[in-house]
Amino acid sequence: MEEILRTVSLTKRYGRHAAVNNVSLSMGQGEIYGLIGRNGAGKTTLLKLICGLARPTAGDFSLFGERPPRQSLSRVGALIEAPGIFPALSAQENLMLKYTALGGRDKRWPQKLLDTVGLSNAGSKKVGKFSMGMKQRLGIALALVGRPDLVILDEPINGLDPQGIAEIRDMIEELNRTYGVSFLISSHILEELSKIATSYGFLHQGCLLQQVTREELAAKCREHIELIAQPTERACTVLEEMGISDYRVTQDGVIQIFERLGGSGDIAMTLMQQQVRVLSLCEKNENLEDYYLKLTGGQKHV
Ligand code: ATP
Repeated sequence: MEEILRTVSLTKRYGRHAAVNNVSLSMGQGEIYGLIGRNGAGKTTLLKLICGLARPTAGDFSLFGERPPRQSLSRVGALIEAPGIFPALSAQENLMLKYTALGGRDKRWPQKLLDTVGLSNAGSKKVGKFSMGMKQRLGIALALVGRPDLVILDEPINGLDPQGIAEIRDMIEELNRTYGVSFLISSHILEELSKIATSYGFLHQGCLLQQVTREELAAKCREHIELIAQPTERACTVLEEMGISDYRVTQDGVIQIFERLGGSGDIAMTLMQQQVRVLSLCEKNENLEDYYLKLTGGQKHV
């Protein structure tokens, strides 16, 4: 997968406070990258740096292989904070205005975008009278009007009801599938991006705690038995002798077993009979939100 974004020790300080602190992440072509963090974690600041709306204090980044990015910034469409819309104009007029300003000529494209974001029935209704969900849709259409290869959306589902969230999610997925557009999307609720994101970056107090793929995250959150035993290699051999093959050993030497759930007593007994010291053994069933809370050391409400 071609890399389209790489940040290298990217840092933004406001006075003594590092809003973004030494962040190194990478994102591939065609990905939907979920940037997850609580309020104040530094998501908006990081996205602004990547769009060229703020200048880094230290570090740098490349976009589509260009470092530092100049021409490649034109391949990025963004919706950060409130979309720049003219409330007295209709959705179509708003879109046409930006499209024309960007030098666009194919008049069918803004109309197609209105269809895609589900605003084709809005007609001549003034945008000032739009609901929050409609404004978000228009904001996303505006981010897309220049046919960008990478779309950056800052909390696009903030304040939407569950149906609105599902619709925006479907739309992002369709744009990704149909036009191959890559997305970098921030959210403070992991669950909301979990159905579509292909990779995640967890941001906390300005630092990137972890970057994982969808598959890695699924494995971390899958129901499993967590075993710490010594020596680890011997423990793995015993597990295999027991016919257990669906397991993995983490970098910290923790053995995660994804089968024989409910059978941890037998596993412990066999290991001990084979002179393996069992230091800890427990069954884990973490959902995404629990995992995220554990990672950031926090409470349920963020
Ligand atoms: P939220 O979800 O609340 O928007 P966030 O993760 O997007 O949070 P940022 O808006 O990037 O977080 O803010 C990160 C930190 O940097 C916060 O402590 C914020 O107060 C601070 N900050 C952001 N912009 C500025 C600024 N222009 N001047 C001073 N401090 C700032």
